[in-house]
Amino acid sequence: MRLVIIGAGFAGMYAALSAARLRDIQGVSPEQLEIALVAPQPTLVVRPRLYEPHPETLTAPLLELFHAIDVVYVQGSAEAVDASARTVGIAAADGVRKPLSYDRLVLASGSRLFRPNIPGLAAHGFSVDSLDDAVALDRHLHGLAGRPATDGRNTVVVVGGGFTGIEAATEMPARLRAILGNDAGTRVIIVDRNNVIAPDMGLDSRPVIEDALRQLGVETRLGVGVASLDESGITLSSGELIGTETVIWAAGIRAAPLTEQISAERDNSGRLLVDRELRVPAVQGVFATGDAARAACDDDGNYALMSCQHATRMGAFAGHNAAAELLDLPTRPYHQKAYVTCLDLGEAGALFTRGWERKVEMVGEVAKKTKHEINTVWIYPPKAERAAALASADPERVTDL
Ligand SMILES: Cc1cc2nc3c(=O)[nH]c(=O)nc-3n(C[C@H](O)[C@H](O)[C@H](O)COP(=O)(O)OP(=O)(O)OC[C@H]3O[C@@H](n4cnc5c(N)ncnc54)[C@H](O)[C@@H]3O)c2cc1C
Repeated sequence: MRLVIIGAGFAGMYAALSAARLRDIQGVSPEQLEIALVAPQPTLVVRPRLYEPHPETLTAPLLELFHAIDVVYVQGSAEAVDASARTVGIAAADGVRKPLSYDRLVLASGSRLFRPNIPGLAAHGFSVDSLDDAVALDRHLHGLAGRPATDGRNTVVVVGGGFTGIEAATEMPARLRAILGNDAGTRVIIVDRNNVIAPDMGLDSRPVIEDALRQLGVETRLGVGVASLDESGITLSSGELIGTETVIWAAGIRAAPLTEQISAERDNSGRLLVDRELRVPAVQGVFATGDAARAACDDDGNYALMSCQHATRMGAFAGHNAAAELLDLPTRPYHQKAYVTCLDLGEAGALFTRGWERKVEMVGEVAKKTKHEINTVWIYPPKAERAAALASADPERVTDL
């Protein structure tokens, strides 16, 4: 029997760990139940940190961990899923294509930034969404030091005043000072269509965020969209032209395109609708998890967000349930009652909220310490030590905050 997991992000990694844990507990050998994980690289890209400097350091190796828990790593990108033949078509880096058959499939292919068709965006927009994008932005920022010291060089525009946009913008004053010096007269401006900053963060959080932006001198242009951009500036829907050589797009995430390979219902973000066990109901043998799935996480009407916090736990449930079906064991409904957010606010500290109503629990330096702990410890893979790694993947315990 073979369980195939697509994706080596937070969800895929925990799906593999959790499936391997159940196999181990049941005394089933890797020959009886093969667990294979398909991804372009055997590394975890620590996406929640990609707004930070030195993005090239923000990955964690997974190969040793996979060896320790007897998970077979398959290098490549899944291009097609044939759910009736139960095969995945995989393209390796050298272009060679091969099919891989499965008895159960866990789709954990994550998400990516959605770039609308705005003139100039594809050619001139930067982002902090993928490792390559974050590295390209970092190189560009360092390259600014060699350019004439114009207002455009010294101005960074971040489009999107949600979670990612705020983290990218509040980190930027310090990043620019480190590259351009203290006297460069840098500006950072957040542009958002909404009339308020961080519309999803709730009323309790907004004053904390607005205070941080004021403290850091980050400006906002709210209630306006983007008409176009080029290498020297951005034009807003209000007609305002801002001279800038750096536009960072942080407005809108969609599930990775692989979800389109499954003939089943998807939401507006391209996520596959799944049942409480994280199965794709219309397609036998297929589970979806993490940013690739839309799942209820409690009985109160809350749904998992595209977040690392949800992806790790959803991954653990999906891996467990896919292996459980193959081993004729009961499956477990995914549930995740606790929900917190920890928003980095650069040199203004951080903001920690609890619950879906996002009640502020910590701000400033105390919250910053927690953010640091989350970003440098909690979201990293477990060590490549079999017993401890498998124990860390109990679906009931993963990220139970
Ligand atoms: C700048 C930034 C800040 C963030 N901050 C936070 C935060 O503070 N807190 C939080 O909870 N979340 C945060 N997030 C969101 C979080 O990173 C995502 O929700 C999380 O990465 C989702 O995990 P995942 O495993 O579902 O997908 P991903 O991490 O996207 O991993 C997907 C995996 O699938 C692989 N893959 C994709 N397509 C294929 C294919 N066709 N074949 C094979 N492999 C494939 C990819 O290579 C990757 O290994 C942030 C994201 C960004 C970009």
